[in-house]
Amino acid sequence: MLLKNYHKEVFRAKCNTSFQSVHCIAKLDQDISAVLPYLNAELGGYAYLRDPPAVTFKSAGKLITVQGREIAVNALQDAQEAEKILQWLKIEINTVWERRSEIEPSFESAAKPQVIEILRCLPRTNCRECGSPTCLVFATLVAQGIKTAQACPPISADQQQHLDGYMRGFRLME
Ligand code: SF4
Repeated sequence: MLLKNYHKEVFRAKCNTSFQSVHCIAKLDQDISAVLPYLNAELGGYAYLRDPPAVTFKSAGKLITVQGREIAVNALQDAQEAEKILQWLKIEINTVWERRSEIEPSFESAAKPQVIEILRCLPRTNCRECGSPTCLVFATLVAQGIKTAQACPPISADQQQHLDGYMRGFRLME
């Protein structure tokens, strides 16, 4: 087992303590730098840095950054959600480490969703029901993993199916 223990701290953003969401930093007891290119290959990191090694994932509006000695997760509901994600990551890290001889390590960032492709799936009426001033702004938020198709009330079932199908290729976990 590569990662055995971590110690997490859950806190509100210092820049605006009125934000409802919390952040989490987990300090790792073991250095997991060696697994990062394998984790990137298996889970499709949104961004990969070589030096120092770090891989970032986007999932359901959260950014999850894994470094050699630290894991950071933002936009969490509470400490319980933070622990759920850390436990899931610990299993993934250890499973990937055990299987590393079968995996081609990746030092590249994964392809990102294209705003224009997302925009094609939207009604494009700029009705503002989603809270964004235009469909283009909403599409940008979807591309960044901040919003999902469900936040566009007038989207048709067919359009939603297309958008969900397109975005599925870029999501880490539901
Ligand atoms: S609710 Fe949908 S159609 Fe209306 S502006 Fe937002 S993305 Fe466009």
